[in-house]
Amino acid sequence: MALNRRQFLSGVAAATAIAGFDPIGGRWIPVAEAKKNKPIPPLEGELVTDPSSLEAYSTDAGNIVYGTPNAVLRPASVADIQKMVRYCADNRICVAARGQAHSTHGHSLATLMIDMGTLDAIHSIDAGEADVDAGATWKDLLHLTVPQGLTPPVLTGFTGLSFGGTLSMGGISSSFDRGAQIDHVYELEVVTGNGDIVRCSDTKNRDLFNGVLGGLGQYGIITRAVVELVPALPRALNFQLIYLDDQSMFRDLWKLLRRNEFDDVFNMWVPSPMGPGFMSVLNAVKYYDPAQPPNQAHLLRDLEHVAPMMQVADTTFLEYALRVDAAVDGFKAAGMWDDVMHPWFDVFLPGRTVEHYVREVMPTLTPEDVGEAGFFLLFPQRRSRFKRPSLRLPQDEWIFLFDILTAAPTPGYDAAYADRMMRRNRRLFDKARLHGGYRYPIGSLDFARVDWVHHLGPQLPEHNKLKARYDKKKILTPGIDI
Ligand SMILES: Cc1cc2nc3c(=O)[nH]c(=O)nc-3n(C[C@H](O)[C@H](O)[C@H](O)COP(=O)(O)OP(=O)(O)OC[C@H]3O[C@@H](n4cnc5c(N)ncnc54)[C@H](O)[C@@H]3O)c2cc1C
Repeated sequence: MALNRRQFLSGVAAATAIAGFDPIGGRWIPVAEAKKNKPIPPLEGELVTDPSSLEAYSTDAGNIVYGTPNAVLRPASVADIQKMVRYCADNRICVAARGQAHSTHGHSLATLMIDMGTLDAIHSIDAGEADVDAGATWKDLLHLTVPQGLTPPVLTGFTGLSFGGTLSMGGISSSFDRGAQIDHVYELEVVTGNGDIVRCSDTKNRDLFNGVLGGLGQYGIITRAVVELVPALPRALNFQLIYLDDQSMFRDLWKLLRRNEFDDVFNMWVPSPMGPGFMSVLNAVKYYDPAQPPNQAHLLRDLEHVAPMMQVADTTFLEYALRVDAAVDGFKAAGMWDDVMHPWFDVFLPGRTVEHYVREVMPTLTPEDVGEAGFFLLFPQRRSRFKRPSLRLPQDEWIFLFDILTAAPTPGYDAAYADRMMRRNRRLFDKARLHGGYRYPIGSLDFARVDWVHHLGPQLPEHNKLKARYDKKKILTPGIDI
């Protein structure tokens, strides 16, 4: 049953209509029982409460953590979000936004979930910026900007992610010299946990701006964003360099980073076709204008890869930007994505220890650790490009995001597999922390209070201050379990 404003106002279905929430009983209260409860405010959108519709919201891309919300708001306006957040604050009901639910550990689960997908307008695009609803996806924007010769400067591998989702997490790409997506935002509109609509930027309500960008949904729900656009060159040349050992891959990786001649550089490990173990595929990508094609021999000079095995993909910029989206579509069509458990492991490592960590970890990994539809990734990043304090990162000149994008062999929940993978992630995380690593919280990791204290470190007093100021009742985004 979806209750919209008209039904509330006219009293249609009054016998079953919901009038309030019982925080002690943890249930929504029918009108007939709700004489003394504070009524739900009239909404322009829908409040979904029927069990079969709610079932679709009970997990995320991880398929590991389950928890059916009591209700889902499909807002028709920011005012709807504001009203329901206020209602939740008054009644101490936990609430979280849900973008595309592509995080993997129950991040967006809450008693009241807000499906941001109903607010997905791209309001405007001009030469330097785009004004977007938080429920729109980066892919939606790319389809509009690339024909105009524009792109956001930083794109995640997969672009079917909501603005609100990646701006709450960070948004890391293989463009190693540009920081994260959160470093390219001019302004946000936020509904705070207190239910106030606040616009913030580097010059206006800066504490909220810095808090919310990479803030894991803890201080407000992002409803709208003004993000940077830069010129997009028409084509992308992707060299896939193959290595038989990681030492030579790392030597070339460091060389390419220091030369700074490519736009994107990242390593992928895939199951080796030559026997057990994994093989390094270093991707070095140059964007270009066909009027000025790049000098390939110069770009690839003095490298140690196995030259005859190199593959080169020369595509449009848009094809390159959407390559992971196309792969995910393929996995979906083959029944290898939906309902498949994805116990992902994601950690930032300092440049000074990354090779040591990889050398220790890679030999311990088996085909089950990656699965049929999974792989390992290493994204280098120049640390000085990252400006936002909520995203916790190691200190070093270079940092590396190491991801194990594990996929279970078949769809469906398997408790023993979940247990094995969660223990693996903890083991790998503990090792990463000893190497100066930080969790990138998109993945699946059980984190205790002491882990959060360590994770937030010097940011902890600011976190507490922002919580006390903007989410006084501590109702926002419980799924990440801070
Ligand atoms: C195939 C694939 C590839 C990926 N590649 C990358 C990559 O290259 N780089 C990278 O950084 N990440 C990557 N990710 C991870 C992704 O960035 C995060 O999981 C991101 O949160 C997903 O966005 P979403 O819209 O699905 O958010 P959701 O999973 O819906 O939400 C994530 C968290 O943000 C909160 N949230 C959502 N919307 C809002 C909002 N409007 N305001 C406040 N809080 C909100 C939610 O409550 C939840 O806690 C990838 C994920 C997938 C599935």
